[in-house]
Amino acid sequence: MSKIWALHVPTQAGFAEASSFYESAMAGDKLPCGHPVDSPPRYQLLEWEPGGEPLGDFVAAGAWIVGQQQFLSRMSKLVHGYELGEVRYIEPLRKKGMRSPGGRRGPPRFELPYEGPPLAFISPTCTIGLLPESTVDVESTCPVCGSITYRAFRGIEKLSSRGRTPRTPNMGLFVRGQDVLGSTIFRPRFTGLTLCTDEARQAIESLKPTNLVFRDVGDAV
Ligand SMILES: [Zn+2]
Repeated sequence: MSKIWALHVPTQAGFAEASSFYESAMAGDKLPCGHPVDSPPRYQLLEWEPGGEPLGDFVAAGAWIVGQQQFLSRMSKLVHGYELGEVRYIEPLRKKGMRSPGGRRGPPRFELPYEGPPLAFISPTCTIGLLPESTVDVESTCPVCGSITYRAFRGIEKLSSRGRTPRTPNMGLFVRGQDVLGSTIFRPRFTGLTLCTDEARQAIESLKPTNLVFRDVGDAV
C-alpha cells in the first residue's frame, strides 16, 4: 500500500493567481443522455486576479492544475499520465465601475494580450476507477451512461489559507495499485481531481516547484 496525493496550488502564497471560468465550448462532447463525455476540459479560461505578485511555477486557478509550460515539460521527463492542456485568457471588463465576470474590480496583473511565460494545465490522460471502499458521497448515478456526480470526498486532507485539516485515518480515496504503476498522474473517473502516486510526488518535489503542495487523499492498495 502506498499513499496517493492530490496536487494543490496554495492561494495567498505570494504568487500571481487567476480565476477560471466555464464556457460551454470548453466542455467535451455530450452523450445522448445529456452528460458530457468524461474527460478534462478542452481548455482553461483564466482571468488574472488583481495584484502584483510574481508568477510562480504554478498558478492557483480553481480545480485544474495550471502551471508554466516550461516547468510542466520538465516534469514530463519524470512523471507520465498527462498532457499539456491549453490555457486561454478572458478579456476583462475594465471600464470604470464595471464588474468583471467574477465580480471583482481592479487592474489585471498582466495586461492583455498576456505576454508572460506560456502557461498550460495538467490534463490527465490516465483515468481510473475508485475502489468501493472510498469514502465518497454520491449525489446521483446516470442509469444510461453510468456517470457519477459526487457531492463530497470525505476524510481527505483539506488545505486552506487558514491551515490544514489532516486526513482521517482509513478514509479517503482508494485505487488499485496496479492501475497507477510508477511515477504517474491520474484522474478518478467522473471527477476533476488531479492525483499522483507517491513516486510521482517525490519526482515532482525533486524539481523544487515554487508553489505546489500535495494533499494526502488516500491510498493505492
Ligand atoms: Zn448519462
